Amino acid sequence: MAPQNIKTAGPAEAAEQGVPTLSVVVPMFNEEEVLPILFERLEQILESLGESYEIVCVNDGSTDRTAELLRAAHCRNNRIKVLNFSRNFGKEVALTAGLDMTSGKAVVPIDADLQDPPELIEAFLQKWREGFDVVYGVRRHRDTDTAMKRWSALKFYKVINRLSGVPIPANTGDFRLMDRRVVKAVGELREQNRFMKGLFAWVGFRHAEIPYDRPERVAGKTKFNYWRLWNFALDGITGFSTVPLRIAGYIGMLTALAAVIYGVFLILRTLIHGVDVPGYASLMVAVLLIGGLQLVVLGIIGEYLGRLYEEARKRPLYVVESSLGIALEEEVSR
Ligand code: UDP
Ligand code: MG
Repeated sequence: MAPQNIKTAGPAEAAEQGVPTLSVVVPMFNEEEVLPILFERLEQILESLGESYEIVCVNDGSTDRTAELLRAAHCRNNRIKVLNFSRNFGKEVALTAGLDMTSGKAVVPIDADLQDPPELIEAFLQKWREGFDVVYGVRRHRDTDTAMKRWSALKFYKVINRLSGVPIPANTGDFRLMDRRVVKAVGELREQNRFMKGLFAWVGFRHAEIPYDRPERVAGKTKFNYWRLWNFALDGITGFSTVPLRIAGYIGMLTALAAVIYGVFLILRTLIHGVDVPGYASLMVAVLLIGGLQLVVLGIIGEYLGRLYEEARKRPLYVVESSLGIALEEEVSR
């Protein structure tokens, strides 16, 4: 066994408490309504497992009473650790930061709204002990989703799994157990465009699945509207595939070929039938079609160029405002 990794920006009490077996990571953005219910259920279940644990809460720039409730929770139970972001950075980044701060031998990200039933953690741990490095929950059905969301999810997984080199399991979320070495591998991927499900799949390792029914959110509202989901899907596709760029090339080639064929046809017709002036309609169609295709192709290139620009700036993924129970490299003190 390698010696315990003290360098990890882990909990301040790590030295006295030792490395916990289980770290649970909860990203949260304006979740004041669910927090009391969440802690009640989560703590009860974790206590009943009889394992040492920590709960790393990442407050993703909430503007409600989330920070206040988290402080109270930490004071009550110092295994609840808190990282406050300086603003909202999005769930994927909040999850990344949470994973960075964990020190447990196994790590489970979970949604704050209890849509990922914590009861499943016991089964996760069992599979992990059997030797699986990743154990993820697979939704049996999507009854709690709207028809539109179900349809778009189905299409999305179809498209991304066609285009991406690594298969991304359908009907899974971020809810899974990961061994420390998986967390470490994911933590080394520092790209700005963070499609976590894809990053988890990319690192590989031996995995097992556990089916479960996803309940409704216990309280509060979803933070993902369709526009945000659409952008999330674009991030997923551009982050894991360059096939759209190739498709852009094919579109160009096909239109060029069609233009050559049409050109030959026009020359032959002129040679055989002589010059005829009418042709406005065909001209307009050709101009508009090619113009439109050019814009589509430019748009696809633009998507990748924009992401390249984001990566090139090499900004840190997140900015921490304060923390409770987590030792940061540079402690901000006033
Ligand atoms: N979340 C976050 N930052 C955001 C949006 C969401 O940390 O910018 C958290 C949110 O608090 C919750 C989880 O991500 O714990 C999933 O969000 P939500 O339940 O709104 O998504 P849905 O289940 O509807 O897809
Ligand atoms: Mg939810």
